[in-house]
Amino acid sequence: MLIPATRSDSSSCTLPTLSCLMTAIKDFFSSFLLLEFLKGMVLTGKYAFRRKITLQYPEEKTPLSPRFRGLHALRRYPDGEERCIACKLCEAICPAMAISIESEQRADGSRRTSRYDIDLTKCIFCGFCEESCPVDSIVETNILEYHGEKRGDLYFTKEMLLAIGDKFEPQIAVCKAADAKYR
Ligand code: SF4
Ligand code: SF4
Repeated sequence: MLIPATRSDSSSCTLPTLSCLMTAIKDFFSSFLLLEFLKGMVLTGKYAFRRKITLQYPEEKTPLSPRFRGLHALRRYPDGEERCIACKLCEAICPAMAISIESEQRADGSRRTSRYDIDLTKCIFCGFCEESCPVDSIVETNILEYHGEKRGDLYFTKEMLLAIGDKFEPQIAVCKAADAKYR
């Protein structure tokens, strides 16, 4: 059933005045001639031949900002040494308490993590961990296509995070360089 757009005008009349009668007649013809329907068709026709903005994901993708906050990674220096110095700033600042770190001292006196876990079921992707890191170790990559089928699948250990960093280091470096002038 078609509902006239201006129904409220006529229904608000309590006394049968001339203007109420005119409004009722106008509503009737508007419904009878399907004017609202025709207006909708005109609007559809107007956009039918314009450039389409809907993308066919996943075949087509939108560009991502270098600051996109996706899957986490731990980075290494070019010589293979891990960047993280176990300062625990990221663990302290994480509002979701998603990061767990344990550290130990190496034989050469340097301090490194013996455990670095992120529970992505807790993470809210705020980016604070990346912002707080003094050595650009923990980063959020622009990887967004990952999933877990059970809770444990989204629990990332140090080895897993380093492996992501190793695999995507060129991409991470490009994003870091693009964003460097704004930091
Ligand atoms: S992005 Fe935010 S919530 Fe997620 S681990 Fe980093 S600091 Fe915690
Ligand atoms: S990732 Fe960065 S902020 Fe976190 S413990 Fe390592 S060095 Fe510190």
